[in-house]
Amino acid sequence: PLASLKDPGLLKTDALINGAWVAGTRRFAVHDPATGLKLAEVANLGAAEAEQAIADADRAWAGWRAQTAKARAAILMKWFHLLREHAEDLARIMTAEQGKPLAEARGEVAYAASFIEWFAEEAKRVYGETIPTTDPNKRYVVIKQPIGVCAAITPWNFPIAMITRKVAPALAAGCPVVIKPAEQTPLSALATAELAVRAGIPPGVLNVVTADAEGSVEVGKVMCASDTVRHLSFTGSTEVGRILMQQCAPTIKKLSLELGGNAPFIVFDDADLDSAVEGAMQSKYRNAGQTCVCANRIYAQDGIYEAFVAKLAEKAKALRVGNGFEDGVQQGPLIDDNAIAKVERHVADAVGKGARVLTGGKRLQGRFFEPTVLADVTPDMLCSREETFGPVAPVIRFRTEEEVIALANDTEFGLASYFYSRDIGRIFRVGEALEYGMVGINTGLVAVAEVPFGGVKQSGLGREGSHHGMDDYVEIKYLCLGDI
Ligand code: ADP
Repeated sequence: PLASLKDPGLLKTDALINGAWVAGTRRFAVHDPATGLKLAEVANLGAAEAEQAIADADRAWAGWRAQTAKARAAILMKWFHLLREHAEDLARIMTAEQGKPLAEARGEVAYAASFIEWFAEEAKRVYGETIPTTDPNKRYVVIKQPIGVCAAITPWNFPIAMITRKVAPALAAGCPVVIKPAEQTPLSALATAELAVRAGIPPGVLNVVTADAEGSVEVGKVMCASDTVRHLSFTGSTEVGRILMQQCAPTIKKLSLELGGNAPFIVFDDADLDSAVEGAMQSKYRNAGQTCVCANRIYAQDGIYEAFVAKLAEKAKALRVGNGFEDGVQQGPLIDDNAIAKVERHVADAVGKGARVLTGGKRLQGRFFEPTVLADVTPDMLCSREETFGPVAPVIRFRTEEEVIALANDTEFGLASYFYSRDIGRIFRVGEALEYGMVGINTGLVAVAEVPFGGVKQSGLGREGSHHGMDDYVEIKYLCLGDI
């Protein structure tokens, strides 16, 4: 699938450290999840190279922060335009190593690029403040300065967007970055980095340290333990987030964590049913259910329960599953065998405890899984408690608003939530009562660059995107002027 790139120069397999492509002494294989075929062998780096990248980033920091915000913004805008220009190649690389349908990959490239555009604009608006004095001999001034070398550890489900969402605000603020991309999807990361080089981002300001699963742990340890690294941003599982937070404790590092979710999707009796079904389809089956904001548990109220599950099953059954490069395919493969095994475990557990399979329920060939709808699901089933991260929609019946709010909040997670209702009073009541960082009301899609993305409880710390997305990359400094 990678033979047909318009610009073969985007296919990088070496890591990027201090502006140089580094081959390392070992390689690791990257596979196409749809076919199982090997796509490339990528530099497999470890602790020593991570140390090197951090030291190089630190040296590059002074020059980068000394540029005006406007100059940094101009370079970021070049990078943004390059992503747009090379969108088709980037999308092809992404589909090849990640599996998502090409149309979704194109969508992600546009979404990824939008963070660069947004933060290029925001770079110029990192305002300080003056505070009215309480002492006639003093003046109080607040400035914001780049925090320093930033580290980013990113996942495979959005191989480019999760990088730009972290890197763009860091660079905009005047910080250099060392990225450790997911071992499943390093080619997307390296192609994006190649475009950063072409945009004129100076050597050392953006570094990509690639590593396999084992090496990633090593690189992660170096990033966390480093005194030079002042901020770590991670998107991935809550389990790994906890490990990183623990490893960062000795250096009191600032952390942005975007972790797992267990999104409830609630359909009230007064909802527009077709719209709710449409929203559930988008929220559940996008990226084959492998997003942290995917509807994980669907609650349908008594009065519309049967009608809702029937419509949802009909739509899910009609989804076209296949290789993401084929025209019209709406659902690609899952990322690996563990992902398939988890989905199978959740379905078997639900069926064993009395759930009805309305459609799907089985693995097709390889890593493809049928779009699945389960009815008569109960809160004690695994699929109600854990993030399934696959194309399974478990639907639970509820009776009252109070009951469903309690059910929805009964989790240690708090990332995205959704509900459908046309009653304005209920919209405010439920919107305020859900303990989540994001609430989609009569919509199944909430993420854009302009809004704050993030979770509460064990779903993470901090917000990415929006003007708030810059906060983690700057330190607030207070200047107290005396002897006026
Ligand atoms: P997922 O379940 O989505 O694969 P993970 O949390 O396992 O999510 O992985 C997300 C990112 O974290 C990947 O880049 C992976 O290499 C990295 N990672 C996994 N375990 C560790 C670790 N112990 N230390 C540092 N990075 C890790």
